[in-house]
Amino acid sequence: MELLKARAKAEILIVLELLDKRMTLSSSEKQYMSTLSKGFNGEVLFDSYMEKYFPTNAIVINDVSLMLSSTSFQIDSIMLTSDTLYLYEVKNYKGDFTNRITHFLTAAGQEIENPVNQLSRTAMLLSKLLRKWNLTLPIKSFIVFIHPTFILYEAKNTDPFIFPSQLKYHFNTVSHQSGTITNKVYNVAEKLIKETQKELPYQRQLPCYSFELLKKGLLCSQCGSLDLTITTKKGECRTCGKSTSISVLFLSQVEAFKTLFPESLITSNLMYEWCGKMLTKRRIATLLNATFEKTSYGKSTHYL
Ligand SMILES: [Zn+2]
Repeated sequence: MELLKARAKAEILIVLELLDKRMTLSSSEKQYMSTLSKGFNGEVLFDSYMEKYFPTNAIVINDVSLMLSSTSFQIDSIMLTSDTLYLYEVKNYKGDFTNRITHFLTAAGQEIENPVNQLSRTAMLLSKLLRKWNLTLPIKSFIVFIHPTFILYEAKNTDPFIFPSQLKYHFNTVSHQSGTITNKVYNVAEKLIKETQKELPYQRQLPCYSFELLKKGLLCSQCGSLDLTITTKKGECRTCGKSTSISVLFLSQVEAFKTLFPESLITSNLMYEWCGKMLTKRRIATLLNATFEKTSYGKSTHYL
């Protein structure tokens, strides 16, 4: 198996997780973060199955975002074999659901959209896009329910569903059917990667935040607590007991700052404030000097 595009955590999820430790998110923001996180964990679990059961003759491209005219669409995973494009949408639902034509019904009686609708739309858009590029490859599309406790009543064997216990068989079957990957298939892979859009702007979906508003301090790398005992070399968490070296603690705060405030310059004064004045300015300057390139404009120094 050749992995041409690995999966990365969405930038918006990274930012929400960082903010969650330094401010109080609203319940809808927390809900949104939890949905994104569950989705991502499901996709990562799916990747691990794929790696385990599909060793030969396939190209895998994850997180594909494409545009056809002005319509954008996303695909969790694409697998290319010698003669077929497999499209996978991964759902991390857990618990009991019943399959209806237009929707799924949860055990609590709540209706959610049948993911087949989204799958059909995505497959149709991808097929049109391949035709537009003059690349032809039959598409087979599936919804993978990855959570081990998921049950779907009234599913038919003609539905495009794959359940966790079927993944091994599915990948084995595909593996046996696939021959050597040809240049034609590589061309499709290259085109898909080339045309994959960057993540869409997400600023509007984020809560309002500013440097002043966020809690300052060094955060435990394990539980996110700000309650640390700092010694010369280490910071020990009073909540979970995890001990981490000062340089690791400090550099992860610098990375968090860069993610949250990409426009801001890194200076030792600013990092002194950001870390809740828990480290001396001299120590911060030493740590920054050891890791980052120093740039000076007049009197001020910042780090790249
Ligand atoms: Zn901790």
